[in-house]
Amino acid sequence: MKVLQPSTLDEALDMMATADTALTPIAGGTDLLVSWHHVDKDSLHLLDLTRLRKLQAMRMTKRHLELGGLTTYWQVIKSPEVARAFPLLAECARLIGAIQVQTRGTWAGNIQNGSPAADGVAVMMAYDATVILQSRDGRTEVPLDRYYTGYKQTVRRGDQLITAIRMPRRRRIVEWFEKVGARRAQAIAKLGVAAVRDTRGWRIAANSVAPYVCRCRALEDALRQGRSFGGPDEIRHALAPDICPITDVRSTATYRERVLSRILYFRLAENGSP
Ligand SMILES: Cc1cc2nc3c(=O)[nH]c(=O)nc-3n(C[C@H](O)[C@H](O)[C@H](O)COP(=O)(O)OP(=O)(O)OC[C@H]3O[C@@H](n4cnc5c(N)ncnc54)[C@H](O)[C@@H]3O)c2cc1C
Repeated sequence: MKVLQPSTLDEALDMMATADTALTPIAGGTDLLVSWHHVDKDSLHLLDLTRLRKLQAMRMTKRHLELGGLTTYWQVIKSPEVARAFPLLAECARLIGAIQVQTRGTWAGNIQNGSPAADGVAVMMAYDATVILQSRDGRTEVPLDRYYTGYKQTVRRGDQLITAIRMPRRRRIVEWFEKVGARRAQAIAKLGVAAVRDTRGWRIAANSVAPYVCRCRALEDALRQGRSFGGPDEIRHALAPDICPITDVRSTATYRERVLSRILYFRLAENGSP
């Protein structure tokens, strides 16, 4: 195993551009170390990002919030300004692991790990987040809801780093996040859903119901057209084009589909939508 420790972003991007073997960035390590025993250490070349202090900062302007590529859950939990402007980020961060994971785990790592169960991704997607990718050749911005191409597959190239995640500040009418797990804390989601209604309409993102965290676009469209729903079963039909839950160690496909439909039906009813 080889570990490279750049001190600046430019140095890190140079290393990625010139490496003979693909480099694996490591931030908090809370996902990478879970799979440690299954990794072939001989071919593992890690790029340790922890010295890139500039990537830790969060930046709030009138127009948006920018989380750095190394911003942790704990930084969001500890920021009253961010919690006020983007309450679901703080709410979700408090439900991710325990303090040890919250202080090390990063929002960018949650995105790049590509788990279908990623809670942070659902919330950021509902907030219409954009992923900022940088390489030595320049920088590109990808909407988070177009970042995944399959299970654990993303559009990121091997020479790119996530340097920031940007979320627009818009007037929001409704915003909520629900996580269903075996218990309130320290549980990977059986399913989860984040919903935001702002001046542009609804954005509903669900986790653990598809190969990657996904938008429920057919339901969003129906809501935009003012459609009303007679019960959870009708919501289930509207979800069908976007989700394909599976049965695994944490839950069954039927449970996931039914509980997601019920949460959405009753939550939307509270907000006067169905
Ligand atoms: C006990 C425990 C409980 C957990 N509970 C939850 C939970 O409830 N909900 C949840 O969603 N997650 C949970 N997690 C998963 C984990 O904490 C998150 O996914 C975390 O956000 C990953 O961030 P990290 O910095 O630790 O990533 P790392 O492990 O360092 O990296 C993860 C992946 O992202 C890549 N990467 C990291 N940073 C960058 C970057 N800037 N640019 C490009 N690629 C990058 C790495 O190469 C790797 O592929 C839990 C983990 C543990 C160990």
